[in-house]
Amino acid sequence: MPDWKPIVGLAFNQQEFDRYCKGLNWSAWRPSFITVHNTAVPSLAQRPNGFSMQHIRNLEGYYRGLGWRAGPHLFVDDRQIWVFTPLTTTGRHSPGWNNVSIGVEMLGNYDIEAFNSGRGLAVRRNAVAAVASIGRRLGLDPATIRLHKEDPATTHDCPGHNVRKDEFIGDVRAKVAAFYDGEHAPADPHPDD
Ligand SMILES: [Zn+2]
Repeated sequence: MPDWKPIVGLAFNQQEFDRYCKGLNWSAWRPSFITVHNTAVPSLAQRPNGFSMQHIRNLEGYYRGLGWRAGPHLFVDDRQIWVFTPLTTTGRHSPGWNNVSIGVEMLGNYDIEAFNSGRGLAVRRNAVAAVASIGRRLGLDPATIRLHKEDPATTHDCPGHNVRKDEFIGDVRAKVAAFYDGEHAPADPHPDD
């Protein structure tokens, strides 16, 4: 069985995750874009309180059991952002893109669960914030975000048709803009810069 990359196994809220990203250095591997997924199984209904540390450990056991060296980079639920595979190394989540892309898994089955209300909307907001934080750190244009199903090497219909790419990218753009507004508010000493 190949060497397994130990998982990070830490959970953050949006602000904590942004700070965490600022401390990372992509010197050995630099991803070109972020790929968005849904877990489908488990669905939101199957994880009424989101992921626990034990759930994350179980996922580690699952991917190791497949004989994989790593899994996706993040598991995002309605409460927090779990770091799974270290963000500064390659993961495994989309057959054609593992060497060039960070994989973000969103808890839910967005073929049948709502992505614009309730817990699905909370997952969406956390995922948008996580993608914005990583993208800002790496200097990635939100337009480069891709959905798993766009990988020509996959047959998976992921992340579900309730996740609309243009809306997701728009959310990330707004989040990035809000980050920058936050940095300059309330008093910008150089308002014309
Ligand atoms: Zn996927």
